[in-house]
Order: sequence, then structure tokens, then C-alpha cells
Amino acid sequence: MSIILRNRGQGLWMVLRITAETASAFFFTAAIIDVGVGMTRIGRYLQSVQLIPAAFALSLSTIAVWIGLTLIFGRIYCSTVCPLGALMDLAARSRPKKTAYRHSRPAEWLRTLLLGIFLILTVSAIIPRQWIEPAGIYSEIIASIRWPRIALGTAAALTAAAAVTITAWRRGRLICNTVCPAGTILGIIARHSTMHIDINTDRCTQCRRCEHACKAECIDMLSHTVDMSRCVVCFNCLPACPDEAIAYTTRRHTLSIPMMQSLKPTPQTQTCDNISTCYPTSSTTAPSNQTAPEPEQSASSAGRCDSTSARASRC
Ligand code: SF4
Ligand code: SF4
Ligand code: SF4
Repeated sequence: MSIILRNRGQGLWMVLRITAETASAFFFTAAIIDVGVGMTRIGRYLQSVQLIPAAFALSLSTIAVWIGLTLIFGRIYCSTVCPLGALMDLAARSRPKKTAYRHSRPAEWLRTLLLGIFLILTVSAIIPRQWIEPAGIYSEIIASIRWPRIALGTAAALTAAAAVTITAWRRGRLICNTVCPAGTILGIIARHSTMHIDINTDRCTQCRRCEHACKAECIDMLSHTVDMSRCVVCFNCLPACPDEAIAYTTRRHTLSIPMMQSLKPTPQTQTCDNISTCYPTSSTTAPSNQTAPEPEQSASSAGRCDSTSARASRC
């Protein structure tokens, strides 16, 4: 049995995720500036479940919970609990609406190098720990804004705030997917997550709206794949798709030869008069020994060539 979350319910899931992220950042911030007992208590709890501080404190249960959740759901830590991620999302939301994200290649060597540097800094304790992990940096930024003073720490915090917000405004979660040690570690686990973003090549019309909505720049439309090591499970891509071709699911839809895929004919189908024009790209060209489709196959092919303008253009 597979679980599928497509764009019909995505509005709700996106609202839930954004609500969780906003509430988490709010209580975390409340704990830093110590506003009130109730809010501070929730915030302190959220501080205690941050991944890297939990690792510093050798809280094996917290680490095990995050590893387990990431193995099931992907990097939900980065889309709900991390306060620095929430700050990046706030900055990214102020981008002009017409500015689209584009897929970028993963900087694996840089991620590995920076993770190595992080481990060296952690062991050697050359730099205070709060300056090398996201929750600590966020805390320093908030403290510097709340209690401004002329000091090196304040300057460093404000520089970090400017770097994080400007980068997020321009490139979404680029810092998460290159610099952050938590992101690199969670990314290694999330590659194998049970739930993942999957593109159904039967339905996809290559309009690229999902790619343009992806702040992690991890949707590759050339291969119809999503790099789950960089995906932060924000659900932005799902409601962007007009064809319900992208889903958060346990299923892996890996077939790429259209005639091999099982498709349901829709009521508004048109048949393709010329089979060769149903394979518009070289990668989907029918083999030379391919015979004309049987009537049942024609119905399947017709399922790909429905009357929507986008699909009609493929036929
Ligand atoms: S990658 Fe790092 S900074 Fe980004 S959301 Fe995840 S933990 Fe926070
Ligand atoms: S693929 Fe991109 S837009 Fe879709 S959930 Fe992942 S990070 Fe968000
Ligand atoms: S938005 Fe949907 S149809 Fe368009 S490229 Fe993405 S998955 Fe394909």
C-alpha cells in the first residue's frame, strides 16, 4: 500500500507546515528574550530538541528521534523546527513573485568539506559552539537585536543575519544545502526516506512550475528527479503543479517510456493520429521495431493526449 499526497490536499499541508514553523520560531525567540514563563518553557523545550545542541549534550534519544523521523518523512526538521530555517523562509517569502528558482547541481564536495571543518571546530573548540550551528547562530542574532551593544559578537551576529537573509532572498535554502552541518547530516539520511517527492512522468507536461517554486533548487526536470538530500519537505512544489504530477508519497514512479506506463483514459481524450508525434523528444522516441499500438494501447496513449493545451502540445 502506498501513501500519496498530491496537490488537492497540499494547501492544507502547507498551511500546517508553515504554522508549525512559525509557532516553533515564535516560541524559540520568546525563550531567548525571556518574555513570559509559559512561552519561555515551550521555547526552552524547543531549544533542547535542536539537533546539533542535542548532539553536543549527548542526548541520544533526541538524536534517535530525528534520525527516525528523517528516515520516514525526509528533512522535516528543516521545515518545521529549525529557527534559522524559519528566518530564511521569511526572507525568501519577500522575493518578487515573478522571480523563479532554478534547479542547481548539488555541491557535494563543498558540503563534505564544510562538515569536516565543522567536526574539527567542534572537537578543537577554537570557536564557541553556538557560532557553528544554526540554532546557536539564530540565538546570537536575536540577542544582538534585542540587546544591541558595540561588541565584536554583535557585529558578527548582524553580519550572519545579513548573510543568511540576503542569501535566502536570492537563492532560498542554499545555505541549508551547502554550509549547514545539520543539513548535510540530515541530507545523507533523507536520501533514503520512505516518504519523498515523486514526479509522475505520465502526467508531467514539463511546465517547470514545480522547479520554479522549489526553494531548495533540487527538482531536476531533465531527469524528472528530486534530490531528497536537499529537499526540505516544504510542500511548495505540490500546489504549483497544474497536472497533479508531483506528489509526496511512498511510491517510486520510475517508468519513463510512455508506452510502458499504465494510464487511465480520461473522458476528454483525443487520439493521436500520428504515433511518431507522440514522442516529441529523442529520449522518448519509440524504438524502430515498435509496431503501431493495439487498440488497448491506443487508449493508454490517448490518456497522455487529453484536451488540456499543455498536453495537447506534446501530441
Ligand atoms: S539545513 Fe541547517 S539551517 Fe537549514 S533548516 Fe536545516 S538545520 Fe536549519
Ligand atoms: S522538492 Fe523543493 S519545493 Fe518540493 S518539497 Fe522539496 S524543497 Fe519543497
Ligand atoms: S509542475 Fe507538474 S507538470 Fe509542471 S513540470 Fe512540475 S511535475 Fe511536471
